[in-house]
Amino acid sequence: MIITHPSPKQIRSWSDAGAPLGDRIGRHIDQCDRCASRLEDIAAIGSTVGDVLRAALAAPAGLAERTEKALERRRPDRESMAVAFDFFGAATDTAKVILFVPEA
Ligand SMILES: [Zn+2]
Repeated sequence: MIITHPSPKQIRSWSDAGAPLGDRIGRHIDQCDRCASRLEDIAAIGSTVGDVLRAALAAPAGLAERTEKALERRRPDRESMAVAFDFFGAATDTAKVILFVPEA
């Protein structure tokens, strides 16, 4: 038998809907320790605190756009990548010289 646990979001929705015991999620939670404990965690947070948390954790407006711009600025150009690879190559060569032990 394949057991599919409801997602935390489904459990929260179910809980917000007044936790109807007869439906699929209610029956599952009634028989599943894992989901029952998840429900307890969700209930412990409480809907009011949960709402405050969700509002506080929600991405501020324009975040995606700012992130994209920041990434654009940090993207290394080809020249600096080439310098980095040259530097890495030189270090590798140096390591080979230092670590190379000729066979007797
Ligand atoms: Zn479960």
